[in-house]
Amino acid sequence: MIVVVGAGPAGIAAALAANECGRAVTVIDENPAPGGQIWRGDADQRWVVRFRNSGIPLLAGARVVWGDPVSRTLLLELPDGARQIEYETLVIATGSRERFLPFPGWTLPGVFGAGGLQALAKSGLPVQGKNIIVAGTGPLLLAVAAYLRGKGANIRLIAEQTPAASLWPFGWNLAKRPAKSLQGLRLAWDLAGVPYVPASWVVSANGEGRLQSVVLNRRGTVVTEECDYLAIGFGLQPSTELATLLVGPDTLVAATGDAELALLEGRAAGYRAAGNVPKAAAMDPDLRRARAFADELDKTFALRDELRHLADADTIVCRCEDVPLGRLEGKDSFRDAKLHTRCGMGPCQGRICGPALNFLFGWPDTSQRPPILPARIGTLLAEDQGLRE
Ligand SMILES: Cc1cc2nc3c(=O)[nH]c(=O)nc-3n(C[C@H](O)[C@H](O)[C@H](O)COP(=O)(O)OP(=O)(O)OC[C@H]3O[C@@H](n4cnc5c(N)ncnc54)[C@H](O)[C@@H]3O)c2cc1C
Repeated sequence: MIVVVGAGPAGIAAALAANECGRAVTVIDENPAPGGQIWRGDADQRWVVRFRNSGIPLLAGARVVWGDPVSRTLLLELPDGARQIEYETLVIATGSRERFLPFPGWTLPGVFGAGGLQALAKSGLPVQGKNIIVAGTGPLLLAVAAYLRGKGANIRLIAEQTPAASLWPFGWNLAKRPAKSLQGLRLAWDLAGVPYVPASWVVSANGEGRLQSVVLNRRGTVVTEECDYLAIGFGLQPSTELATLLVGPDTLVAATGDAELALLEGRAAGYRAAGNVPKAAAMDPDLRRARAFADELDKTFALRDELRHLADADTIVCRCEDVPLGRLEGKDSFRDAKLHTRCGMGPCQGRICGPALNFLFGWPDTSQRPPILPARIGTLLAEDQGLRE
């Protein structure tokens, strides 16, 4: 049986492709419904509908916490217990998460990850009438701002750290891709009147007990803007924990991109998993085009050096263990920081501070070990001896 972990665009496309080749497939996702980050809660999305109509079994609300590549077994935690599942071939489509960088005040209530605030709004958080500043980098900021505005939020401004000189050539290149240009135009229409300010970034977030204002470096001028929420994101970080556990850190090639790339990558992986190499290979030209666009995005929205110097000695870096930046002085690796300060040893296991420290100090994130997600003791006890060793 082919097991696909992740029911986002990539996992859905992989499962449908393998199913089309006549193979038995099961999909696992920790969310209650298929769709992943982008189609969360959108039961009418056409790929979600295709997946539902395919009859492919989905183990929803099941998170993979451990795996053993020798016995080809995964350990799942379900709301009501634990379960092991065997696979012949595994497709890992676990997506990505947002990258956060520390700055004074970033742990105040009211400061959200951009995609996180969007996900909360999709799940019912009311944002109508809220004054929101969207900041960080990349096209996700535009998608989030447009979504929140559509829900009645007042988007005060979008602060994009990339300078205009880098955005213009990207914009021209977009014109060569009609589908992307159309998406861009739609976003521009949805955001008409909202200031989009390049070369600008958040310096600090301030407020008594919760966010009240944000200090921005706005093209070299420091300004204070009042707001209810700050939605901030510095790009995406691939979720490679399961792949690292099962395949190894040296053999990974991880990429992040948009839903189009995820669908293509997923479909090609599904054909390969089903042994249909010619169908997978036929997708190479489309994949090359989509990956080239993802590379262009990475280059255009590369993080500027100033963002490495926003946090001061008192700024919390590891928010699970309350470790401020000052306590990392003299440490020379993530492991050193862990051993001496507990940085990265809380419930998120370095998912937030690992990528931040990689950007701040160039430390490789070597924190990945099983269980890859927080798990109940009962789940770990239920696993078989073979998995534990
Ligand atoms: C917060 C956020 C918001 C985003 N919003 C947009 C947007 O508005 N527009 C856009 O174009 N792109 C958006 N993106 C980018 C988005 O990642 C891609 O467009 C697309 O969703 C990628 O598809 P995917 O299938 O690779 O990953 P995802 O859609 O992330 O799907 C991965 C799935 O794997 C599941 N999973 C992960 N680990 C496990 C595990 N251990 N056990 C079980 N299940 C697991 C997750 O629950 C998830 O459903 C967003 C990304 C993030 C992180």
